[in-house]
This record gives sequence, structure tokens and C-alpha cells, in this order.
Amino acid sequence: MKHETLTVELGERSYPIVIGDGLLQQAPRLLQEAAISKASHHLIVTDEHVAANYLEPLREALAEAGYRTTASVIAPGEQSKSLAVYERIMTEAIQSGLDRKSAVLALGGGVVGDLAGFVAATYMRGISFVQLPTTLLAHDSSVGGKVAINHPLGKNLIGAFHQPRAVIYDTSALRSLPKREVAAGFAEVIKHGLISDEAFVEWLEEHADRLWALDSEWLAKAIHRGCAVKAAIVSEDETEQGKRALLNLGHTFGHAFEALSSYSVLNHGEAIAIGMCLAAKVAERVGFAEKSVYERTERVLRLYHLPTKWPGNLAPEAVLEAMKRDKKTVGGKLALVLPRAIGQAEVVKDIEEDIILTVMREEAEAK
Ligand code: NAD
Ligand code: ZN
Repeated sequence: MKHETLTVELGERSYPIVIGDGLLQQAPRLLQEAAISKASHHLIVTDEHVAANYLEPLREALAEAGYRTTASVIAPGEQSKSLAVYERIMTEAIQSGLDRKSAVLALGGGVVGDLAGFVAATYMRGISFVQLPTTLLAHDSSVGGKVAINHPLGKNLIGAFHQPRAVIYDTSALRSLPKREVAAGFAEVIKHGLISDEAFVEWLEEHADRLWALDSEWLAKAIHRGCAVKAAIVSEDETEQGKRALLNLGHTFGHAFEALSSYSVLNHGEAIAIGMCLAAKVAERVGFAEKSVYERTERVLRLYHLPTKWPGNLAPEAVLEAMKRDKKTVGGKLALVLPRAIGQAEVVKDIEEDIILTVMREEAEAK
């Protein structure tokens, strides 16, 4: 079976991202290669949608190879990235007898990955974990070791840096993904192009029809390219002292939309799609980017059926307040990732709040 491997280079903590069709069946071998012991008990964290198709086959394959597992199944959706669900999984981990050599196996999208990763980062001060992503968006979230849960007041405010031992990406799982979630995944794929690679954006524009139809050869290329951009940035700047912040293009706006709508109206990909459009608008307004950047950003997002207009009835003033709780804010000063051109972005620290607010008010009125 054909599969490809990328490596996140982090010295002794380097790990593989293995991408291919049917890989879940090869999980036992890949876990063994990642030095996950058969002597300890392991915890699979997944959600109800994913469990319906992929949990039992995975557990059976693992059991046949001598891996003992318990499964924690959570309700699907962003609202599960909460302290309450975190506590429940911790209880199940303790009751299942997980020890320091146990691993948490995150089978699902970014919600499962972020939550399960945070459990792994904190259980007995940190145990191993492995990402088994099942959404397109998770080509981003499963790589790089940022793990977190949300607080009602702000997204991802409780978390850690904790790298997985391996990422096992079975692309055949994407066939059952609802189209809305396919679109959300493309928002992060497009983001990887917008921040670092104009040719990639051009490729995404040119092949939108095939990619949207999940043509497996083309999809594998998109995932590979997206993971490669992410892996390279993480290898260079694991804990976000500099360049890694670029991965947050559109996220200061997007996270505010998510928090203000109780993590239930827009999904993450939709929220950052609108956020990337607003970042382009602000960049043009302050003369940081040339005029065509917004237009092209909006067009490529629409090719993948993503929203680009102001969300619902949110008040721009409330959005600005929520944006200030972003992790890039220091000493009360907002920092935004702005595009300079397609394929190029920078962190900008000194934008007047009034300009951001004016742009948001115009967008809210234009809706
Ligand atoms: P998700 O995990 O909620 O999955 C989306 C939906 O698809 C859910 O309803 C899920 O049950 C369902 N699903 C998953 N796999 C499926 C499959 N194969 N078939 C059918 N249904 C399936 O959301 P997501 O979009 O994968 O991830 C979003 C989260 O990722 C957000 O919380 C975001 O903050 C986080 N994120 C984290 C990072 C990071 O670096 N840690 C990066 C990007 C995003
Ligand atoms: Zn994101």
C-alpha cells in the first residue's frame, strides 16, 4: 500500500507524519515503531461520529497485535473542548489504570486531537500520545504539538505544547466527512498557501473542482503540501517565539467569533475563513498590502464554499474585546498577522484599534 512519510524535525523528539490510504489497519506496526509499549494499557479518545465508523476496526487491529485499550467517546463538536469533558476523560484514564508508559491515542478531528493531547500533556505530568487524524482540517491540528481546551471567555486559553510520538493519517477516512467539514479543512490548507507559498495558492485555485470532489491523488498532494508547510514552521519555531505566529492568520478574528457564539455557530475553519478576509481588509486599509490581496483571498475561499462575510449579529465592539484576550496580546496591545501579498504574511503589532474597529463596522453594515 502506497504511503508517504514526512518528519517533524525536533532533535530527539522528532516524529513521523505518515499519510496514506488504509493506514488505520497498520496502526499496530506504526505504534510499535513509535515505541508505544504493549505492557501498559492505552486510552483511545474519539467522538461519536468517528467512533461509528472507525473505532471498532482500530481496537480489533490493536487487540490482535497485543495492545490493550479503553475508549473514551465524547460528544462531537467544539463544545467538547471544555474543562468538564477534560475532567471526565481524566477520570476514565485513572480508572483504566493508565500509567507513565501508557499512551493516549487521538482518533478524530482537531477537537479530539486538541483535547486528548491536553489530557496526555497533563496526565501524571505528561505521557505519550499519537494523533490519528480523520478530518482534512486535522492535517494542521495534528502536527506541531499545540494542545488545548477552551474557556467560555476565550478559545484555547488552557493548554500546553506537547508533541505527539507520531501522526498516522489514514486518508480513506476523509471519504465519510460531511462537505461542510471538507470546506473547513480547506480553510487551513488555503491558509498554509496564503502565508508562505503563492504557487500553492495558484495550484489550489486551478484545481479547486478536483480537490473539492476529494479526488484522492490530488487530495493527498494538498495534505502533503499543507503538512510540509506546517512541519517546517514547527521545526524552526516550536514554541512560537517568532515565525510560528504566522500560522495564526485570520485566527485572532476567528477565535473571537467562535468564543462569542459559544463555540456552536461557526466551525473553526469557517471562523478563520472570515478572519482571513478581515485581516486582508485591514492590511489594505493600513497600506500594508496591495489592493488585490483581499479580492484574491476572498475568491479562493469561495471556490471551496467557505463563508467570507461578517458572521451573524455579532457586534464589532464585542469582537474587539474578545480579540484582546488572544494569546498574541501582550500588555493589552493587540498583534495581528497580516498578509503583505499572497504567499507572504507578517505579525504587525502597532495597528490602531480604531482602524480594526472601523473595518469591522463597515463589514457588519455591508452584510
Ligand atoms: P472536529 O474534530 O470537531 O471534526 C469536525 C466534525 O467532523 C465533527 O462533527 C466530527 O465528529 C466529524 N468527523 C470527524 N472525522 C470524521 C470522519 N472521518 N467522517 C465523518 N465525520 C467525521 O473539528 P476539526 O475541524 O477537525 O478541528 C477543529 C479544531 O481544531 C478546533 O478546535 C481548532 O481550534 C483546532 N485546531 C488546532 C490546531 C493545533 O495546532 N492544535 C490547528 C488548527 C485547528
Ligand atoms: Zn486554525
